[in-house]
Amino acid sequence: MRELINITRDKMTAAVLYGKRDVRIEQIPIPRPENGEVLVRIKAALTCGTDLKVYRQGFHARMIVPPSVFGHELAGVIEEVGPNVDSFTPGMRVVAANSAPCNNCFFCQRQLANLCQDLQFINGAYAEFIKIPERVVRQNLLILPENVSFTEAAAVEPLACVLRGIEEIGISEGDTVVVIGMGPIGLMFVQQLKSIGATVIAAGNRPNQLALSAKLGADHVVDSTHTNVVERVRNFTDARRGADVVIEAVGSKETWQQAMGMVRRGGTINLFGGCPSGTQIPLDSTLIHYSEITIKATFHHTPRHIREALEAIRLGHVRPRTLITGEESLASLSNVLERLINRNGDLKIAIIP
Ligand SMILES: [Zn+2]
Ligand SMILES: [Zn+2]
Repeated sequence: MRELINITRDKMTAAVLYGKRDVRIEQIPIPRPENGEVLVRIKAALTCGTDLKVYRQGFHARMIVPPSVFGHELAGVIEEVGPNVDSFTPGMRVVAANSAPCNNCFFCQRQLANLCQDLQFINGAYAEFIKIPERVVRQNLLILPENVSFTEAAAVEPLACVLRGIEEIGISEGDTVVVIGMGPIGLMFVQQLKSIGATVIAAGNRPNQLALSAKLGADHVVDSTHTNVVERVRNFTDARRGADVVIEAVGSKETWQQAMGMVRRGGTINLFGGCPSGTQIPLDSTLIHYSEITIKATFHHTPRHIREALEAIRLGHVRPRTLITGEESLASLSNVLERLINRNGDLKIAIIP
């Protein structure tokens, strides 16, 4: 269905971050697309752990200086295109990733676009419209397949990070994989790992999220608040030798350390969850050396993984619907973020402008 609405006004409703836990709903100018740019009418934006962090601290060191629009997981309909945009026309249903690499730097030339020194980020998903910069239009703006909803499509960015995390550790069918942390990211790992035939042990600290992980296919669930969580996980592995792979999706000192104890000799750990800056973790050198443990970490995504994420959603390998626990209007964004800080069982909330 095509939806062409001429904008006859020059202001739009948007959430503006002013500082710590200070978000105001305001009327701000609608951005106009220039050369190579596209204006998207946002149909769904998803809350994300990064947004919560930004809301709590009032800024983001790399990309958000208040007062600023924010939010970065979005899908919508193209409203207007700037000059020299060939592949998109108004009315197309699209999803945009939150960044695009430069393709010129040391890292981009080594197939590490996720580590690009000059990643261009976009922010402003909590608004009626967003202008997609030329670099993102060229590399990371995708047309939605008919069976993928705006809300589900908006999850491509975190899912792309998850897919890259799995690819980098090389998991094969039949491997036993522990996922620590049953937030939205952990639950996406569970779904994708099941779709490639891994045996999944889910460790988390909230009963509702553990129950959901079981519903999504986790073979075993372990309450990570137990003091002997490491032993409990090992009990679920053959001969108690530990898991082939452990994926940490929390970002805390305790869980990074637990991960080391859960992996088998010769196994691999992906420290996916980022800890607060400055966190130091002691390493058991004997364990790392004599058990030949590989410790990896993966961060962000590449344009290829954004495409693979949309495909995984289209095929139903990962169903973002299962992680969206509510739909709210833009006006209630502050309440939603406060609710998420208080962790009352919500996972991701879809903000519908
Ligand atoms: Zn995100
Ligand atoms: Zn680069």
